Amino acid sequence: MDEKQRILELRSLLKRYSYEYYTLDKPTIPDSEYDQLFRELEDLEKKHPEMDDPDSVTKRVGFEILSEFKKITHERPMLSLGDVFSYDELRDWSSKITDVYGPVEYCAEYKIDGLAMSLIYEDGRFVQAVTRGDGITGEDVTSNVRTIHSIPMSIPYRQRYDIRGEIYMPKSSFNRLNRERIANGEEEFANPRNAAAGSIRQLDSRICASRGLDGFWYHVPDDVNSETHYGSLEYARRLGFVVNENTKLFSDIEEVIGYIEETAKIRHDLPYEIDGMVIKVNSYDLQRRLGFTSRIPKWAIAYKFPAEEVRTKVEDIFITVGRTGKCTPNAKLTPVKVAGTTVGFATLHNEDNIRDKDIRIGDTVIVRKAGDIIPEVVRAIKEDRNGTQMPFVFPETCPVCGGRLYRFEDEAAHYCVNSECKARLVYSIAHFTERNAMNIDGLGEKRVEAFLNEGLLNSFEDIYKLHNRKDEILQMEKFGLKSYDNLIEAIENSKQNSLERLINGLGIRQVGEKAAKVLAAYFRDMEHFMNASVEELSEIRDIGPVTAEYIREFFNEASNVEMIEQLRMLGVNMNYIDNTVSNDSVFKDKTVVLTGTLEKYSRNEATALLENLGARVSGSVSGKTDYVIYGTEAGSKLDKARKLGITTLNEEEFEKLL
Ligand code: NAD
Repeated sequence: MDEKQRILELRSLLKRYSYEYYTLDKPTIPDSEYDQLFRELEDLEKKHPEMDDPDSVTKRVGFEILSEFKKITHERPMLSLGDVFSYDELRDWSSKITDVYGPVEYCAEYKIDGLAMSLIYEDGRFVQAVTRGDGITGEDVTSNVRTIHSIPMSIPYRQRYDIRGEIYMPKSSFNRLNRERIANGEEEFANPRNAAAGSIRQLDSRICASRGLDGFWYHVPDDVNSETHYGSLEYARRLGFVVNENTKLFSDIEEVIGYIEETAKIRHDLPYEIDGMVIKVNSYDLQRRLGFTSRIPKWAIAYKFPAEEVRTKVEDIFITVGRTGKCTPNAKLTPVKVAGTTVGFATLHNEDNIRDKDIRIGDTVIVRKAGDIIPEVVRAIKEDRNGTQMPFVFPETCPVCGGRLYRFEDEAAHYCVNSECKARLVYSIAHFTERNAMNIDGLGEKRVEAFLNEGLLNSFEDIYKLHNRKDEILQMEKFGLKSYDNLIEAIENSKQNSLERLINGLGIRQVGEKAAKVLAAYFRDMEHFMNASVEELSEIRDIGPVTAEYIREFFNEASNVEMIEQLRMLGVNMNYIDNTVSNDSVFKDKTVVLTGTLEKYSRNEATALLENLGARVSGSVSGKTDYVIYGTEAGSKLDKARKLGITTLNEEEFEKLL
């Protein structure tokens, strides 16, 4: 197909997607795919100016309105934003401005994933709320917006006041709403943005009121009351509007990038969704000089976080058995890149989830990978079905041992209850040896499985008897003397671990790393912990009554008490070693920046390690940085650190200091 034909094709395709997204609130492709096609169209249109069309999606905001709400023309247009997907593109945007105008002050804000809204006040009273619509004309949704409690109905300002911002649905409201919709047999909303847009367009305000919407306010188009954007937001705050507290000023684009990196790390802990950051020129005077296009202001840009939702195909569905015997259905996917990594598998959680979402083998699906969570299948695209897709029937027997599966009352999961099931044993021993538990390097899942097959391992205790099986181990494929010595040394060292590692390693239901720490610090030794009553356990902060029951159940089992005794006799430490007081790490109270890819630690692991040693981990290098730890592919941060004379450490040097 030639480029001109492709332009026409893209225009019509993007028009359809925009209609589904803006008008129906029911997107059929992920935003990342839309953004890619949009970019492709923009680039082709630049190459072929003769194909100019003011009706192209690249020249327009949103989509035409087809709703029953009254149409209102905005006094000043409501525009979209230009977007960038990498720091280099952001730097380019910034240098285009600074090359002409010199140093610029930027305001960086969260890009709230909701829908844009204009609120109009006259004589101090709230009179109208209008959606962005096509940028020129929006829908009058005043009565619905009135139901949002945080929006002031009157303000101490008498002149006409237009303030713009985002109506969004907090994650908690979104989850509740979708649970209700599933229970009522209704289709789920794809994401909080679509749920917010769908709610604000309800003709019955009572429905909108029940949806738990909220708003953040970030733009005052009539630049009155201040010389700067930030100043106008402070003024808005004084008038009673909720301005996001994470809105910050910076004098340099590298500092902005540092702030974006910091935000990327915590975005999943926020109670609302953000899909990027918006960077705005702070001075109104410079904003006026930079001006607008028909679609976007030139003084602002959106940096979009890497896509966390993409489209792919479910090739198969299979079950994995965890260490508690829990059976989880998983989708084998056509591999696809999500949030920077290639994903070939995703969890389907449980039988009900597959049924409620009607996910079938062969379906095209949306997969999501957010932060540290396991990739999951969000929904199936039913429009893409051609009749060959197969519903999945949950098996009645364990795929590993063939034992019967049980589903307990009030539990969504199926369990294999055969305590001899090999899958359970492999996972539970591999969990025991994990870095966050007993930290026995060289005894990961694959090796545990191999040892199990050779009859060398059958329990936690067997780990501490492996030195008696030297000859057999050395006969195993790929097992040299050095690996053997290292393994035995790691096993020996693990005997000195503080109690929380052992507690975590036991694999008691709901007792992970965090709870294990709390319990070890509270009870100080295994004896007290093992004998604690449900009442005593429930009173400990962060340990709920359900977890308390699971702990008691675990130690009511005689074989578990016997296992602890055995471990004690084999020399495993059963006491809590408090190392919080005597922390003399070189990283204590120091500001550390991580850059590039470390070989042995993920970014999260290295951050946790440093923070445990009392360091502050920052996203950007400045005069206040004490150490920069770098891995492969380290870029500008390392260069900057060297220029500033900051101590830099490669992974080996970092480990030595640990
Ligand atoms: P946008 O969402 O990329 O950015 C502009 C919007 O950001 C503003 O209108 C405003 O509502 C919002 N915003 C949030 N926080 C802000 C802040 N602090 N300051 C200023 N604005 C802020 O642009 P858009 O025009 O609303 O939508 C285009 C995007 O919508 C596309 O990039 C795509 O991701 C998505 N889309 C998806 C489909 C689909 O089929 N999946 C179709 C059409 C559009």
